[in-house]
Formats: sequence, C-alpha cells, structure tokens
Amino acid sequence: MREKLASLLQLQTLDAKVRELDASAKALPARLDPLRRDLAKLSGMLEIERQKLSETAQWRKQQQEQMERENELLRSAKNKLSASKNSKEYTAASREVDHKRKSISDRETELKKVNEATASSQVALDARGKDVEALQAQLAADEQAMAAQVAELAANLEETKKERDAARLVVDAGLLKTYDTLTAKRGFAVASVVKGVCQGCHMGLPPQLNNILARMLSIETCPRCGRLVYRKELLEKKDEPSAEAPPADAAASE
Ligand SMILES: [Zn+2]
Repeated sequence: MREKLASLLQLQTLDAKVRELDASAKALPARLDPLRRDLAKLSGMLEIERQKLSETAQWRKQQQEQMERENELLRSAKNKLSASKNSKEYTAASREVDHKRKSISDRETELKKVNEATASSQVALDARGKDVEALQAQLAADEQAMAAQVAELAANLEETKKERDAARLVVDAGLLKTYDTLTAKRGFAVASVVKGVCQGCHMGLPPQLNNILARMLSIETCPRCGRLVYRKELLEKKDEPSAEAPPADAAASE
C-alpha cells in the first residue's frame, strides 16, 4: 500500500510540474509585449515627426522658389522705376518696388522662424531616433535571451512529460482511472491528512476513517471531496531513507 501511495504521489508531483512548465512556456513570450508596445508607440511618433519635417522641407523649398520669383519681379519693378518717364509712372513703379520688398522681407522673416523650428525639431527627432534604436536593440537582445529560455523550458517540459508517462505505468490501471477522474474534477487527486484533517478540502475526517488510514492496508477516499487520502506522518516517517527528503520542520521535531 505504501508503494501504491508513493507512486500516486510521485505521479501527482510530476503532473503538477508538467502543468507548471506548460504554463510558463506559454506565458514567456508575452513578457516582451510591454517592450514591443513601447517600441511600436515610439516608432509611430518618430514616423509622424519625420513626415512633418519632410512636409516642412517641401514648404521651405516652395517658399524659396517663390522668393526667387519675387526677386525677379523686384528687379523688373526697379527697372520700371528707373525707366519711368513721368511722376505718375514713377509713383506706380515706386509703390510696386516697395510692395515687392515688403513681400520678400515678410517671407524671409517667416522662413527664418521656420528654419529655427526645423533645427530644434531635427534635434528632437535625432534623440527619438536614438531611443527607438536602443529599444530595438534591447528587444532583439531580450528575444535572443528568451529564445534560449523557451528552448530550455521546452526541453524541460519534454523530459518531465517522459518522467510523468513513466510514473503512470507504475500505478495500477484501476487506481489510475480514479486518479485521472479526480484530477480532472478537483485539480489534484491525492491529499494528505494532517491531525485528522483532509488537506484537500480541510474537513476533519471521521475518527474511524482516520484509524483505518493508520493501518495503511487500503487506499481510502475523503467523504467530502472524494480525494484519495493518506496520513502524512505515516508515509513520511518510513520514507526517510529514500531519495525524498522530509520537510525541514518534520526533521527538526525528531
Ligand atoms: Zn477532503
């Protein structure tokens, strides 16, 4: 009976380990999601800023072309001015020259402002570009480190599954069926009893059942949760010479 219980517990331990490794393997890649989101956000901002800057550059080019045309017009207005034959022509040409000068000067002022703004935008853009590069490098490094972790977890999971499958072969077919049903229904199938209390559902067992468990001649079930139960102290005491180390507190009390 002791061996039967021990093999059931061994199976239960390995099943729990398989579940844990499986969950870790699934959760691992999602850990980089916050970093990926940050990177996507920063890249998006960078793209928008680049777009704006290129639109500004386009605008500046247009302004400069326009200014060249205005300078030509100014030159012809000046020619008109010097060629004016009477005061009427002179006044008109003079007004045109003034008008062109003002227009060119306004455009120059605005271009200067835009040039200054562009310069500081370019500085910010360069800084952001560096941030994005740093994040990309970090993500690449993290992904690489994680690839190793994922592979390690997968290998560990495979090995544990093999151990678990081997442990299943040791358990009696009938008992295995009960174990599987209970595991599916209750999460785990085998519960220890400590001081007469089932550790699966925390109900006190009837004293008679506790006495039956003390004899270790049969595998009993908890009347409340239906789990297979055993008295913890009985299994631990005589298990000590085996590879399984007893809990520290049990060892200290002896
Ligand atoms: Zn119970």
